[in-house]
Amino acid sequence: MDNLLFSQRAANLQASAIFRMAYDFFGTYNQRRQVPNTLDFAYGNPHDMADPAYVEALGAALIPRDESWFAYKSNEAMAQEAAAASLSRVAGMPFEPADIFMTTGGFTAISLALKAVADPGDEVVFNLPPWFFYEPLAIEAGLVPVKVGINQTTFDLDVEAIAVAITPRTKVVIVNSPNNPTGKLYPPRTLERLAAVLDEASMRHGRRIFLVSDEPYNRIVYDGATFHSPVAFYPYSLLAYSYGKTLLAPGQRIGYLALPPTMPDRDELRRGIETLQMSIGWAFPNAILQYAVPRLEELSIDVGRLQRKRDHMVAALQEMGYRVHRPEGTFYLFPESPLADDREFSEMLAGERVLVIPGTNFE
Ligand code: PMP
Repeated sequence: MDNLLFSQRAANLQASAIFRMAYDFFGTYNQRRQVPNTLDFAYGNPHDMADPAYVEALGAALIPRDESWFAYKSNEAMAQEAAAASLSRVAGMPFEPADIFMTTGGFTAISLALKAVADPGDEVVFNLPPWFFYEPLAIEAGLVPVKVGINQTTFDLDVEAIAVAITPRTKVVIVNSPNNPTGKLYPPRTLERLAAVLDEASMRHGRRIFLVSDEPYNRIVYDGATFHSPVAFYPYSLLAYSYGKTLLAPGQRIGYLALPPTMPDRDELRRGIETLQMSIGWAFPNAILQYAVPRLEELSIDVGRLQRKRDHMVAALQEMGYRVHRPEGTFYLFPESPLADDREFSEMLAGERVLVIPGTNFE
């Protein structure tokens, strides 16, 4: 008899050092943020009261218009249509409503993407520093994480290093632009080279490699820059989006997974994704959130205000002597810790009621 009273899958997740750090940090963070006058820079959480237009959109969606208002819902057509129209403008290509799969935020969209195209034992490549949940999402799907460094000076993808990391077991490469935590927007030239590498490696190994483009910040770009979706460069892509960032309401779990119109023969994949949505545990967003999507898509985040906050914070930190760069998108800063031990430094800041995530948590 083995003495493990929980599954190997749960044990594998607990063995992930990066996940343990994220998990432990979140517990302490939730206590510390309750302390009055705390400055919370740790997560993409709201700092202000919710926009009344957001609350009105949810309120309007709550009022039943027919007897099946609160019946079982899957991918609601009104949400798919509004999301497809809006995404088509952002990504510059005509997404079809049938290619939008509504999810409980970006987490589920990524998890669904991994499970839709990869099987246990397959490898998934992502870049360091990563968003700290790629590893647990990969492990939970039975996949093997493979980590690749970025260019330390420009924060751009190291496409040559990605090419070297690809093996016959590679099934997915995840990219995140604009990037959390670096704020980097990957330029078209990088994305073209990445697409060429993925195509060439797929041909060489006789096995299609998929690109998962994680882009919850694709509407949060600064200085008039243009966002280029990686999906526009490689047809075998799955795009994960969350409304949590644009609407500054990550506790209201809604997002989607989208297939681009350029992907050939995607009927089977469409059916596969919907089957997974049901089998994962009816992983659709609640009815009210889906009804609200057409109105939520009309709300626009005040990017100018975020840009002024960015400029204020970057200037202040630089004046204090921190080494910090100016992010092109997202609402994160990635300054260098003045102490070699960044965890010790973040504890010192916590003592001053300033909450930040140590860079170690981003490997
Ligand atoms: N991807 C990245 C890069 C993120 O930063 C986040 C949230 N921090 C997510 C995905 C998940 O977003 P959500 O919590 O809205 O599902």
